[in-house]
Amino acid sequence: MEKRRGIPVSPGVAIGPALVLDTEGVVIPQRTVPADQVEAEVGRLHVALEEAAAEARAARQRFTAQFGAAYGNIFGAQQSAFEDGAFWDRVTAAIRANSYSAEYAVSRGVREFVKKLEDAGRRLGAEAGAEVYRRAAELNDIARQVLHALHGHPAQPVGGVAGGGPFVVLANDLMPSDTADFSPRTVRAFATESGGPTSHTAILANALEIPAVVGVGRFLTDVSGGDVVIVDGERGLLILDPDEATVAEYEGRRVALLNRADRFHALRDKPAVTHDGTTVRLLGNIELAHEAAHCAEWGAEGVGLYRSEFLYLNKAADPTEEEHYEAYRSVVQTLGPDKPVVIRTLDLGADKVFSLSSLLTTEKNPFLGLRSVRLCLRKLDLFRTQLRAILRAAAHGDIRIMFPMISTADELRQCKTLLNEVKDDLDDAGLAFKRDIRVGTMIEVPSAALMADVLAREVDFFSVGTNDLVQYTLAADRNNENVANLYNPADPSVLRLIEGVVKAGRERGVEVNVCGEMSGEPVYTALLLGLGLRQLSATPRKIPEVKRVIRLLRVDEAERLAAQVRRMDTASQVTNYLRDHLRRILPEAVD
Ligand code: PEP
Ligand code: MG
Repeated sequence: MEKRRGIPVSPGVAIGPALVLDTEGVVIPQRTVPADQVEAEVGRLHVALEEAAAEARAARQRFTAQFGAAYGNIFGAQQSAFEDGAFWDRVTAAIRANSYSAEYAVSRGVREFVKKLEDAGRRLGAEAGAEVYRRAAELNDIARQVLHALHGHPAQPVGGVAGGGPFVVLANDLMPSDTADFSPRTVRAFATESGGPTSHTAILANALEIPAVVGVGRFLTDVSGGDVVIVDGERGLLILDPDEATVAEYEGRRVALLNRADRFHALRDKPAVTHDGTTVRLLGNIELAHEAAHCAEWGAEGVGLYRSEFLYLNKAADPTEEEHYEAYRSVVQTLGPDKPVVIRTLDLGADKVFSLSSLLTTEKNPFLGLRSVRLCLRKLDLFRTQLRAILRAAAHGDIRIMFPMISTADELRQCKTLLNEVKDDLDDAGLAFKRDIRVGTMIEVPSAALMADVLAREVDFFSVGTNDLVQYTLAADRNNENVANLYNPADPSVLRLIEGVVKAGRERGVEVNVCGEMSGEPVYTALLLGLGLRQLSATPRKIPEVKRVIRLLRVDEAERLAAQVRRMDTASQVTNYLRDHLRRILPEAVD
């Protein structure tokens, strides 16, 4: 058994067979077969090897004829790998000795070999090591081809353990478009080698209510498809090859967490009011329209952030005005016309690329490039389409509009000018829409935070996007585990910016919300209240716990806490202090 530590990004725990993506790209339907099917598995393996070798042979001939022997020989090396008697004999022996399925034996055999190569690569110097790594990558490719060939010759499903899950998905990284296809029925949990806590993949995992751990570091060579693994999305653990006692312990924790979820549901209809009577408005963050139901289920008073760019997920073409409109209207229909719904205009680009190749140029530094509102202001038709849909949908409820990634007052004014033009167009067309829609801006770039007093003259509300604000303030990529030590919402620099925004909002009568992941973390609740926030927007599932903390707090206590924090120099001092405080008021919330 091996425990690997990563970053917990979506709570819950899950136990299940691994589905390893990236290197295999295919499902390992079963780990073992009944004794009387063992010879059939050996037969399937040999047929698959012959097929893979024949394909490599054909590719070799084709490339040799077209480009010359030097190119053809690339496939010659692959062909000999498929014909490497000694290696495949070992795989065959593993099938016979352990009743492994052909897929599992290939996956395991190659992984063991790759791991040995990588270990050797680490011991060798950079140059020789690189050659060994290249060989390891080739072997992975070979495994993938054999597994694909086996896939063409499916095994008999055994005892109902056929392909299709539910699995624990393990991958180097996942794009949001991969994650969007996951559902709790097919994917119990996932863990990735790379990624950070506020990556959009992590945010989607939360939305889909699938436990997840990211940024675990290299582990894929130590696990094979079909192995039993545990993902602990509470503590940020991936457990490979768990022993029986650990499996039993996690079964118990899984049941306990389900019970806790039931308890939290009981808080749904209680108000988010501090012990001394101050009301805090708790709103939900959603990515997909159907999640409006989660807001209602977990007791959110509306939607504080609808990440509308997820309308692009897995779509080849831009969403039409009607598609935008229907999505927004359905959110209003689910929540009712009186609940606020803040629709954030498209925040595309950087790690939210999806299938937008026609929209985006490749940039060397996409997080600092044509992202979000900058892109929309270049693609005015695209922007107009969305603005029309939002204005029209707003005729049916309390829809508000919010612009992301605003870095200057000019940019915000351009957005508002366009919004006014679109209103005039709708007027001319005689279509129903809401003229006096409330307009807000995200504050997620330090320049916007520093200019909040100026921006406050332009809008009805602010929403502080701490996920990006932290990234841009500390110059630490939100998805890069190598700088995760710097990426910290508790950093005093970030807290000063938030406080400045709250102050500017108060002076100008502009509502201030926080909608980054920070607002769903109970450890920050007292501090945010103490800094003056009275509105938070978080993943719906996180709302009950935050509400619980609010109901235990007094505002003067939160303000004293904020005053203490103001004197601190480092994020770790702040975090330790906040954790100690939370431990005192709600011990079970601190691990
Ligand atoms: C943020 O940056 O905090 C935010 C809420 O936006 P997103 O996570 O979608 O970038
Ligand atoms: Mg953001």
